[in-house]
Amino acid sequence: MAEETIFSKIIRREIPTDILYQDELVTAFKDINPQAPTHILIIPNHLIPTCNDVKASDEKALGRMITVAAKLAAEAGIAAEGYRLIMNCNQHGGQEVYHIHMHLLGGEALGPMLN
Ligand code: 5GP
Repeated sequence: MAEETIFSKIIRREIPTDILYQDELVTAFKDINPQAPTHILIIPNHLIPTCNDVKASDEKALGRMITVAAKLAAEAGIAAEGYRLIMNCNQHGGQEVYHIHMHLLGGEALGPMLN
């Protein structure tokens, strides 16, 4: 069984975190170390360690993550100018926390992703 990360404690509100959205499937909160003026993490409430572990039964939560990203981007006023959604997988992808999460980054021009 996969080990819980700090994100499970955030979902259960056991540590102080700026939670922006929560429902029965997903939780969204501000990244502790923002890489852009808007940097929000959107995660499923149940533990999926990496994108490699995603199953068909997770599709509802994964779809909700994008719906919530779009809603939060609109609320942050960055929808029209645009933003970036990123999910990192394992070591080469730069994943640090093994509870899948979508980064919502925006609020400035982010530049090319690959260079
Ligand atoms: P990764 O590199 O795994 O894709 O991204 C993990 C992200 O989680 C990083 O951007 C990091 O700043 C953020 N993070 C790690 N621990 C915490 C925490 O305890 N609280 C919050 N709000 N963000 C965290």
